[in-house]
Amino acid sequence: MKDAWIPFATRAVPRYTSYPTAADFSPLAGDAQARAWMQAVAPGEAISAYLHIPFCEKLCWYCGCATSVPNGYRRVGEYTDLLLKEISLTAAAMGPHGGIGHLHFGGGSPNILSPSDFLELTDAMRRSFGIREDAEIAVELDPRTMQKGQVAAFGRAGVNRASLGVQTLNEDVQHAINRIQPREMVVALIEELRGAGIGAINMDLMYGLPYQTTQHVAEAARFAAEMGAARVSVFGYAHVPWFAKHQRAIDEAALAGLDERFAQARVAAMTLEAADYVAIGLDHYARADDALAIAAREGRLRRNFQGYTDDPCATLIGLGATSISQFREGFSQNLKDRKGWAEAVRAGRLPAERGIAVSTDDRLRALAIETLMCRLEVDVMEVCAAMGVADDRLDDALDSARRLEAAGLCYVSGSVITVPEQARILLRTVAQCFDARAQASAQPRHAKAV
Ligand code: SF4
Repeated sequence: MKDAWIPFATRAVPRYTSYPTAADFSPLAGDAQARAWMQAVAPGEAISAYLHIPFCEKLCWYCGCATSVPNGYRRVGEYTDLLLKEISLTAAAMGPHGGIGHLHFGGGSPNILSPSDFLELTDAMRRSFGIREDAEIAVELDPRTMQKGQVAAFGRAGVNRASLGVQTLNEDVQHAINRIQPREMVVALIEELRGAGIGAINMDLMYGLPYQTTQHVAEAARFAAEMGAARVSVFGYAHVPWFAKHQRAIDEAALAGLDERFAQARVAAMTLEAADYVAIGLDHYARADDALAIAAREGRLRRNFQGYTDDPCATLIGLGATSISQFREGFSQNLKDRKGWAEAVRAGRLPAERGIAVSTDDRLRALAIETLMCRLEVDVMEVCAAMGVADDRLDDALDSARRLEAAGLCYVSGSVITVPEQARILLRTVAQCFDARAQASAQPRHAKAV
């Protein structure tokens, strides 16, 4: 890593899966705001939905997700019953719409659900919202904890994309993160999924884990390519033990330094690109025939709470504790505390707790950030024209970007900001030039850039 990049790499920056980011949300008074936004969805318009399943059978020590170990199925079953209730409450609150175009089960580990509960939730979504014929139904899976009959249930439910948490294949690293997952286990699951007609397989890999080396990262990337993964995401481990308490079990002395982290991210990119994967935005790779690569080629790539997507929907309905919903007018987030979420749902209230109404300035900056995060390039005047505002409205961002030019993080030519390929890992730092809210906040609220 260039010396000039070190101060930027150690600075906390948002992931920019939204703008404003969740750190900008403030308490909502009741559920009236969320209801009003739900009513305002355009008739006939396709929507997306996300179901959060906040449980895992075992906790990985690197995890930064909102999840816990339930110790038995009772809590999962109770949560499922409440989720079914939230689905009907939300569907009743929505105005007329065109049904679900993208349905995503995330967590936690959605495969902690029994096959019958998974089918019941999918059926409820179909009955309550309608799922379009061509919808993508995606589920995140922990290969270690699959249950008998589960893949068949996914097939019956219409799942057509599965994301497998793989992270690393190296046993020493797996021990150090409390995630023992032999390669054969992943291979067997992929074969079973393909046998059930679920051909689109995504793999999540990581770098920067304790004891991990560039060779380990290259090995995992080669494995993803050999298995024909349609998409591969490569996330850097974010060590934030003050926030994610179980990360205290990770030996800090075994964590890679900045240079090594940078080298690991590079080797993942080089290995996947050598295997004909297309680099997508900050940290995704896709086979040229995958919908994500096609969307990137055709300028339709988007970024939302699930990361990079070809999902064009403007409305995303988040269901379950901590889930975030996105509307044209703003964002609302469900109660993070599961007890509070359960009480609200039992009482027949939408469990929205925090959120933010977006201003015209937010929309303008959101479009600029999303464009840059997706294309590594943004024409600021084009964004202003698309939003119908004066073409100097983002001059502050151009000025900020010019200050990053000397370090080689980006180049500014006229109104165009471009992030060079080598600086891709610091893309969020350049996107932050548009973030008027982060610049107004003195508090560090996010993980480091690299
Ligand atoms: S399986 Fe995924 S969500 Fe669950 S603890 Fe491990 S990393 Fe976190």
